[in-house]
Amino acid sequence: MSQIDSREALWLAPYAFRSSMSAGRVHPELPHPYRGPFQRDRDRIVHSSAFRRLSGKMQVFTGDMGDYHRTRLTHTMEVASIARTMGRALRLNEDLVEALALFHDIGHPPFGHAGEDALRDCLRGANGFSHNAFAITLAEEIEQRYPGFPGLNLSREVLAGQHVRAGKKEGIPHPILEVQVVEAADSITYNAHDVDDALVLQLVTIDELREVPLIAQILEEVQSSYSAASHVPLRQMLVRRLLDHQVGAAMDYAIHYLDTCGWTSPEDAKHADFVVGVPPELLPMKRGLEKFLFQRIYRHPQLLRVRENAQEQIRKLFHLYLQEPERLPQFFRMRGENVGFDRAAGEYIAVLTDSGCQQAYHENFPGMSAVAR
Ligand code: MG
Repeated sequence: MSQIDSREALWLAPYAFRSSMSAGRVHPELPHPYRGPFQRDRDRIVHSSAFRRLSGKMQVFTGDMGDYHRTRLTHTMEVASIARTMGRALRLNEDLVEALALFHDIGHPPFGHAGEDALRDCLRGANGFSHNAFAITLAEEIEQRYPGFPGLNLSREVLAGQHVRAGKKEGIPHPILEVQVVEAADSITYNAHDVDDALVLQLVTIDELREVPLIAQILEEVQSSYSAASHVPLRQMLVRRLLDHQVGAAMDYAIHYLDTCGWTSPEDAKHADFVVGVPPELLPMKRGLEKFLFQRIYRHPQLLRVRENAQEQIRKLFHLYLQEPERLPQFFRMRGENVGFDRAAGEYIAVLTDSGCQQAYHENFPGMSAVAR
């Protein structure tokens, strides 16, 4: 038994996915002397070009709006941190959880969901565009690391987890718990950090947030128990507690279920009446917060201007590349011969950072200023 297998045998729960259960990689590789398969995936993801570019891609707020708020990269790191906490406490495969979390948003185009919507529209005649599906394309076809084949050659489990994200609206059976933990950590994380960022950017006030029942409840709790610590901003206490409240509730719910369910294999998660996440009784409150975030933050007039500007740049670049594919970098020009120039143009735009997209726009449309930001 390898060192990894014996450690996992000692530590992991019966329903955790063991490294020895991996279906391997499309291009077979010998085992590594001291890293398990999912540690290798984690490392490949961190060393990929697409992962580094996440630092230049917006989560919700652009780089012009200050330097406090999250980028797509710091969001990803927060998700990985929370997902690992949850995975470790549930005695799941923490390496797999971490790899899945670091991978989950790697396919995001520039300008967040605004960029994604524009690309989906541009590519509507060619199967559209989804950042979740594009993560798989990046990992299998676009990243170049090995002489004999394209892609990162990730484990089938990491790719399968991302396939679940890419098709999550199609009612497939539940994925393994490691995938579920990342899914739960993602929404818990952005709910909390988007509140934090929006408060710092003064797009919303704490008083306005009180209309959200979950926030009102937490504020009441925080203000009564922390009144002596007035040097700590109320915002910090609210956000910390908002995160802790959701993660704590999700963990209590999961531990209670998993302690008594009698599962003996990771496969048992597939058809169970349980999914990792905040418990059903907390879900309406979480949805209430998400509705507020959507209406009052994500559709804030300041962000709508960013959205229009980004979409105009992406649409114009896309149509230009389609008409004049010679403007594309060589890799994507060659790729266009195989996947079609519309897809290759969309993919090239999708790999760009926010500033890379702006730069490409200004180079290709000199003198044309984009909509005011
Ligand atoms: Mg995410």
